[in-house]
Amino acid sequence: MSKRDYYEILGVNKTASADEIKKAYRKVAMQYHPDRNPGDKAAEEKFKEAAEAYEILSDADKKAQYDRYGHAGVSGNGRGGFSGGGMNMEDIFSQFGDVFGEDLFGSFFGGGQRGGGRAGQRSRGVRGSNLRVKLKLTYEEIAKGVTKNIKVKKYVPCTTCSGNGAKDKGSVQTCSTCGGSGQVRRVQNTFLGQMQTVTTCPACNGEGTTVTAKCTSCKGEGRVYGEETVSIDIPAGVQEGMQMNVSGKGNAGERGGMPGDLIILIEEEPHKELYREGLNVAYELHLSFTDAVFGTQVEVPTIDGRAKIKIPAGTQSGKIFRLKGKGFPAVNSYEKGDQLIQVSVWTPQHLSAEEKAALEKLGHSPNFKPQPEKSDKNFFDKIKEMFS
Ligand SMILES: [Zn+2]
Ligand SMILES: [Zn+2]
Repeated sequence: MSKRDYYEILGVNKTASADEIKKAYRKVAMQYHPDRNPGDKAAEEKFKEAAEAYEILSDADKKAQYDRYGHAGVSGNGRGGFSGGGMNMEDIFSQFGDVFGEDLFGSFFGGGQRGGGRAGQRSRGVRGSNLRVKLKLTYEEIAKGVTKNIKVKKYVPCTTCSGNGAKDKGSVQTCSTCGGSGQVRRVQNTFLGQMQTVTTCPACNGEGTTVTAKCTSCKGEGRVYGEETVSIDIPAGVQEGMQMNVSGKGNAGERGGMPGDLIILIEEEPHKELYREGLNVAYELHLSFTDAVFGTQVEVPTIDGRAKIKIPAGTQSGKIFRLKGKGFPAVNSYEKGDQLIQVSVWTPQHLSAEEKAALEKLGHSPNFKPQPEKSDKNFFDKIKEMFS
């Protein structure tokens, strides 16, 4: 099933401000909220879809990537990216603090009493930071797309304490201020009347527990410096400078907090013979004078193996041949570039006395005088064509 456009899901256009996007999301989220549509699977899907759209469009970086590259720009891969499992309910409700304002949220949706999602939800630990890594790709890899396994040095969850930072089970205690819920309630007067509001417990920072003795492996941080091999599916057609976001593959959070994202910065390895210009690929073909005169068949490199081309007799230096569809594919579309082959006729620089005499004789023949035809494209048109 193809994914719907994020702007369409929220019912806003591309020029919508951050505030308009937030308002639109609030409306859609309220409409399809599980509390209002109990047991309605279709509503739940719409609810999740809207949350995912908002997650991307409310983040300036992700939004810019989505605007440029569509879903491929923000999906990263099947594992960590959004395209895989989408967001789970816990992620969505933790996003709500932002959207609805933490205080109002509780009142809208039953004071945090809802089953399954929000109820008893604790904000564990501290979110890990994002990591950026550069990834060099060859033209051949870019042409087809590739799965890369890269070793990333980063914070990983501490295995001794399973990330909670405590020495043992006995040193994790339920917070006495909030009774473990991570939240404290109070009644507040607002412009809408009296409301019960819910805020993060100040004693445990919303974690619901306190640690009395720290894990010795990680000194209570719940994470240690290590490395992980991350598998990344690179779609065909990426370009130098493009960034891909792999959700959740950055640094582990402290004490079980959400991990950061891994941001992949694409770099292109220069090719020995080919040159990329957008979707097109350029190649300079050196021909001997006699091959240009008599015509020949040659093999040229392409980003997808070698290709044979026929050079007709009488080919001029500077002539451009176009191999349709032999360029790079565009990310997220069926469009494909071409390979442009420019002929460069080789002029001999060292001649024997015999060769010199033969050429001098030929040089007087009228057929050796340049006779450009009117129909030939001029130099500037060719340059334009080359880079179009
Ligand atoms: Zn530990
Ligand atoms: Zn507490």
